[in-house]
Amino acid sequence: MRRSAPGRSASGSDVTAPKRFPATLKPAAAAVQREVLMPQRHLHQATRDAARLARPSGTGLDGGAVRERMVARLRAEGRFDERVLAAMAAVPRHEFVDTALAAQAYEDTALPIGHGQTISKPSVVAHMLGLLFAGHGARQRGSLGRVLEIGTGCGYQAAVIALLARQLTTIERLQGLHDKARQNLQRVALPRSQPAPRLIWGDGHAGHAASGPFDSIIAAAGGEDLPPAWAAQLAPGGRLVAPMAAAGRGQVLVVLDHVVEGGASRWVRSEHEAVLFVPLKSGVV
Ligand code: SAH
Repeated sequence: MRRSAPGRSASGSDVTAPKRFPATLKPAAAAVQREVLMPQRHLHQATRDAARLARPSGTGLDGGAVRERMVARLRAEGRFDERVLAAMAAVPRHEFVDTALAAQAYEDTALPIGHGQTISKPSVVAHMLGLLFAGHGARQRGSLGRVLEIGTGCGYQAAVIALLARQLTTIERLQGLHDKARQNLQRVALPRSQPAPRLIWGDGHAGHAASGPFDSIIAAAGGEDLPPAWAAQLAPGGRLVAPMAAAGRGQVLVVLDHVVEGGASRWVRSEHEAVLFVPLKSGVV
């Protein structure tokens, strides 16, 4: 649920409180005082104000500059795909997190998105999407093609993928987050996002055969082993990236490639760096 914190960013700096209120006045108190000062205010004005105050404005988050700075910091690390960075520069991450956390949205940090889940760090999103781009099929195609995402969460990563893919199907097992992601993705007008992502409320273990096969599969939750349906729905030349348990190493990023040689398919698995994702769970809630 969105908490409205009119006039105050999460870092505590006073951003939109009208000048006539003393700086020490808490935003909630400022809102109450304004009600008292304007008791005769029309309903439509109140409705307009509520809509305006529901999201922090004047925080500098709405312009692209703060996203550009985040991307510039990632670019300086020299290990991320430019196409992924360009897509991340186009998606307003603060629109996907709780209002109270919006000021932290452009730091390289994971943030809670409710229901005990977290939005991944921007550098992790960039790294995983870069791994998908480095796959054989994506290198030839220059696009992530048809994508399956497991773990829609708040919809942020889905918004980034939508700019890099031909088609996106994304699955979330928690109905509350599935609904939230739908709202977030509708509110944020994405450039070049066609067609709109297909949001599924379901258990991602089964993948989504009806939308497959997929050129790229990405999971945002980690399990003990790769669900067989994912490999089965990976198109020839396709690549899957997912956090999974690895013997003696905790959780690592696993890459699975569907390689076709001489008419025969094989699946090549490689293990990458250690990561820490929320668990891949079964069933829907
Ligand atoms: N990509 C997301 C991050 C979501 S965190 C974002 O940008 O916000 C991982 C998500 O995976 C959680 O929302 C969790 O509920 C979901 N999840 C865990 N197990 C799942 C499963 N079996 N099927 C679908 N979603 C699952």
